[in-house]
Amino acid sequence: MAVESRSRPNKIIAKESKRSRADDDVSARTSLAETSRRCGWARNELAIRYHDEEWGVPLHDDRLWFEALVLDGAQAGLSWDTILRKRENYRKAFRGFEPAKVAKFGDRDVARLLADEGIVRNRLKIGSAITNAKAFIAVQKEFGSFDAYIWQFAGGSPRVNSWREIKHVPARTAESDAMSKELIGRGFKFVGSTICYALMQATGLVNDHMVDCFRYEEVKTRRR
Ligand SMILES: [Zn+2]
Repeated sequence: MAVESRSRPNKIIAKESKRSRADDDVSARTSLAETSRRCGWARNELAIRYHDEEWGVPLHDDRLWFEALVLDGAQAGLSWDTILRKRENYRKAFRGFEPAKVAKFGDRDVARLLADEGIVRNRLKIGSAITNAKAFIAVQKEFGSFDAYIWQFAGGSPRVNSWREIKHVPARTAESDAMSKELIGRGFKFVGSTICYALMQATGLVNDHMVDCFRYEEVKTRRR
């Protein structure tokens, strides 16, 4: 098992935004006010968009599940910002994250991916995506969908937490430990408990938005 990353909120590395004088007007102050109502880890444009539109929204689409699984595995040891910047390249390199296509990747695809500067060029991570595609298809066959299988670990509906400070958010839980053990038992790679917990947060199995974040209530009524 490679070095695991901590959960997403702790992992995102904020970058100071460069603001011109022109930005220092009313609209800039407005956006600052909005920032105070958003989870503190989302601090650059890409992370903010991801936080505001995707993070924590209950996921119910197998293709997106496979994408989340591959990207969270690719993140291990890196910042989520790095993965977000590469996400479009990942979608091209991994054929739209169709598990059936990735499961058929052979040596030529591995060589292509290792040469692709748009993704994380790590042989173990690339190999794990192919291994995971095969395990993913096996789960679909057994449970009807990966979605039906994975939501078991949340008891079928999102667990709603009520964090007030990011330092209280755990990096792993008993549920993510159970998910990790189950996935490893089915042959999945790069699915340690902290990776599983980041996955649970991102895909809405748990609602880990801060209670004062404007998305805390919003994600309760959304699904994707
Ligand atoms: Zn939030």
